[in-house]
Amino acid sequence: MTDPTLPIGPYVRKPANVLPWDPRSQVVADTVVRLINERRPDLVVEHIGSTSVPGLPGKGIVDLVIATEPSDIPGLTQTLYGLGFGPQPGPDPFPPTRPMLVGSMTVKGETFRIHLHVQPRGDELVRDLAFRDALRADPELLAAYAELKSEIVDGGHNQSFQYTFRKQAWIADVHRRLGVLPRPIAPPAVIGILGGGQLGRMLAQAARAMGYRVAVLDPDPDCPAAAVADHLVLGSYDDVGAAMRLADLAVVVTYELEHVASAVVDALELRVPVRPGRYPLVSTQDRIAEREFVESAGARVAPWREVRTTADLREAADALGIPIRLKAATGGYDGRSQCRIASPEELETAIERLGRPAGSPLLAERELTFQAELSIVVARGLDGATATFPIARNVHDDGILVESVAPAPIPAEVSERATSIGLDLAVAMGLCGTLTAELFWLDDGSIVVNELAPRVHNSGHWTLDGAETSQFEQHIRAIVGVGLGSPAALAPTAVVNLLGTGRQREARLNGLGTALADPAVHLHLYDKRRVFERRKMGHLSAVGPDVEVALERARSARSALTWEGGT
Ligand code: ADP
Ligand code: MG
Repeated sequence: MTDPTLPIGPYVRKPANVLPWDPRSQVVADTVVRLINERRPDLVVEHIGSTSVPGLPGKGIVDLVIATEPSDIPGLTQTLYGLGFGPQPGPDPFPPTRPMLVGSMTVKGETFRIHLHVQPRGDELVRDLAFRDALRADPELLAAYAELKSEIVDGGHNQSFQYTFRKQAWIADVHRRLGVLPRPIAPPAVIGILGGGQLGRMLAQAARAMGYRVAVLDPDPDCPAAAVADHLVLGSYDDVGAAMRLADLAVVVTYELEHVASAVVDALELRVPVRPGRYPLVSTQDRIAEREFVESAGARVAPWREVRTTADLREAADALGIPIRLKAATGGYDGRSQCRIASPEELETAIERLGRPAGSPLLAERELTFQAELSIVVARGLDGATATFPIARNVHDDGILVESVAPAPIPAEVSERATSIGLDLAVAMGLCGTLTAELFWLDDGSIVVNELAPRVHNSGHWTLDGAETSQFEQHIRAIVGVGLGSPAALAPTAVVNLLGTGRQREARLNGLGTALADPAVHLHLYDKRRVFERRKMGHLSAVGPDVEVALERARSARSALTWEGGT
């Protein structure tokens, strides 16, 4: 509801046009500052952003900032609502600890949108003011920035993401010159990790190599990360109490899996930064939300439908054609909680076969035939700088990754397109950390997104032995706020997963001597105490003159290994 008697009007959505600087925006800023100071004379309200620099073109949004004590923020927010400001709309608002309120004001016939940032005192405002003052004082800097902005193209998503990314990197560079870059989190600070599986373990190893301490939250006291964590908090991924114990220990929290309850992230975000943030998590943990996100970012997915009943599924089959892949919207991994529907008869029992509670949201999508499965791991730092690892080519067996090689032997043009999709998605979700995009390279040459993981990924394990910086170190570098490492490949590299076999029993590996007789082969074992059929127990990597030779080496090492007692 909007109230015409309030001085601040409702926020209005407008197309993002770049316009010349408008002196009326200064009148808006002055008026809002006065209105706020009438109620809170103790606060300094700063005008930042493009409207605060005379002569700078921009979108005409009046950005204002109030920096105050964290305990003041909830009450102040209410006071500002009283002026007519409203909460930030959209899927990815700033958290309540650092809200952005929105509104509008009309001056001489023109309505200006207002973004009012309310944030804890600190570096962020110092940086914004330094940047503003540098632009006001330095006509050359102003001209260079105006030129960069004028390159905003009215074209598609791709260009606008490229623009955002370039603009951020440019601004970070100015911050660096002004000496106001954010201070990184320095060792021996404690990094918190939600999840203690093999990915948590390898993240912890990278963090510890850099001198950080590590706290891991996992339900299993014998989880793979337990042996390398300084602190282990026992709890499930939806246990808010356990997450608060993690927040007591850590100065920044990350996650190794996307099956973390959003309530846990909400509670954590009030205490510590969570990186990558809440939005990367919620836009990837549900396959339906994920597809909506990918499409909104301008990338393609397989034709899909949301279904809940067999009747829905029959309709979806009519629209999509058979074969279909039916997947539970949440909770699946390694090919679990999904099935393939190869004939109309199978439609009738498919939902039952998935074993989800009746009426659960499911994703039905067309099965695509592809030349290869590819993946890209993208890293994006706190300052918006990005680094992309070479593309991996992956082979799955019944939904579980078995082999991966990188750099993928594909035309340069294909890897450029795959890279640009990964970058667009990372920028669109405001990522800080790593993002993996699983891709299908279709027979017609086009690239379709299969799945996103806002984290390190099995298909990036080759970077441990084959790249200048591993994906794990890269993720840690991003979340502590230091520069990203070089993602360049050192050599063609292959990874084969070491899966469990047979019934569940204690894990004992045979054949190590033979497997590691080849000096090009490296073993990574995850310290899982129990082995069972198809469990990911470790991986072998090998380098070689080309990826096919590397793959042969890794495969032959794997064939030498067996799990004791397996049949
Ligand atoms: P998970 O979360 O278990 O990794 P995915 O959706 O990535 O689930 O599916 C696992 C694998 O199954 C994929 O890597 C691919 O090999 C195959 N697959 C999944 N969906 C499709 C599809 N629509 N068309 C063809 N193959 C698919
Ligand atoms: Mg997958």
